[in-house]
Amino acid sequence: MKTQTILLKNRPEGKPKLSDFEFTTEDSIETISSGEMLLETAYVSVDPYLRGRMSDAKSYVPPFELNKPIHSGVVAKVIDSKNDKFSEGDYVSGMLDWKTQQISKVEDLLKVDASKAPLSAYLGILGMTGLTAYCGLTQIGKPQAGETLVVSGAAGAVGSIVGQIGKILGLRVIGIAGTDEKIDMLKSKFGFDAGINYNTTDNMKTAIAEAAPDGVDIYFDNVGGPISDAIFFSINKFARIINCGAISVYNNTELPKGLSVQPFLVKNSALMQGFIVSNYVEKFPEAMKQLSEWLAEGKLTYTETIVDGFDNIPKAFIDLFEGKNKGKMIVKI
Ligand code: NAP
Repeated sequence: MKTQTILLKNRPEGKPKLSDFEFTTEDSIETISSGEMLLETAYVSVDPYLRGRMSDAKSYVPPFELNKPIHSGVVAKVIDSKNDKFSEGDYVSGMLDWKTQQISKVEDLLKVDASKAPLSAYLGILGMTGLTAYCGLTQIGKPQAGETLVVSGAAGAVGSIVGQIGKILGLRVIGIAGTDEKIDMLKSKFGFDAGINYNTTDNMKTAIAEAAPDGVDIYFDNVGGPISDAIFFSINKFARIINCGAISVYNNTELPKGLSVQPFLVKNSALMQGFIVSNYVEKFPEAMKQLSEWLAEGKLTYTETIVDGFDNIPKAFIDLFEGKNKGKMIVKI
């Protein structure tokens, strides 16, 4: 057996290409040292934020190094262990390299329980995705029953959970997504009150005003750009805008030009705050408990787009920028 690895070959210019990634193969690992474990990758999370790490720009996490393995959230099986905390056959999740097999020490790995939830869920609703949705909405959004929430990227991993939490908390929820099929799913599967397909809507400003006749109290922004600009025309007094992501501009090669939002914020005493999930570590136990309970009670559900095969990791990542996923995009190895 050989071990395969995916390296970052080039820093992408604009939209990432398959040629920005390189596959290497080496002999499998035979021996491990005391304290180590040998892991076999089971599921790999591909996420829009990885695009930022592929650029050589200052951010909240350092860039990936060229010709080094890319890493992201992974669920892996322990196939050999010289560590007291984990045994052969256990499954763990953590930030691991895009490799079919790797040696790891215990730091930052969590044991996951396949009897409680499907393993892939630990990369989605019971992983960073769920934590992002819960912490962003509750900590910055501070929702009050009866308010109106708009979510962009609503049919994706984070957005589909944000909208459902909004419904649980008694909000009117409007989702923005890129296809009619996704809009149907938001309403039928996730209980959103209304949806807007930004690809077929001529005037987003009007569409938002019509879908939110009482104005927008909370905007959970996953996409940035012109879609988000349109929201500002409908925000209410004391609105909260959670700036979670901006996928629509991640591949831009020039600084995006957009609306000057300051007058809208001043006029409405509104708050717009950047959100990074890792700033809310102290909230994670509460978030995990609540998400698990809602999931067990059937109040929350989720969808995944599972792509098969290690070779398809780069393509699955690129497909995020084409909206090919519904819910969490995950690669099964
Ligand atoms: P996701 O929404 O599951 O996948 C990306 C989705 O973005 C696609 O399915 C696509 O859906 C939409 N999209 C792609 N290009 C677009 C464009 N040009 N304009 C509008 N929509 C576009 O991804 P996710 O993992 O849930 O992440 C969602 C956002 O949250 C991302 O911006 C990500 O960076 C951010 N995030 C932030 C944190 C944090 O701590 N700050 C943590 C996790 C995620 P459509 O078909 O609807 O276009």
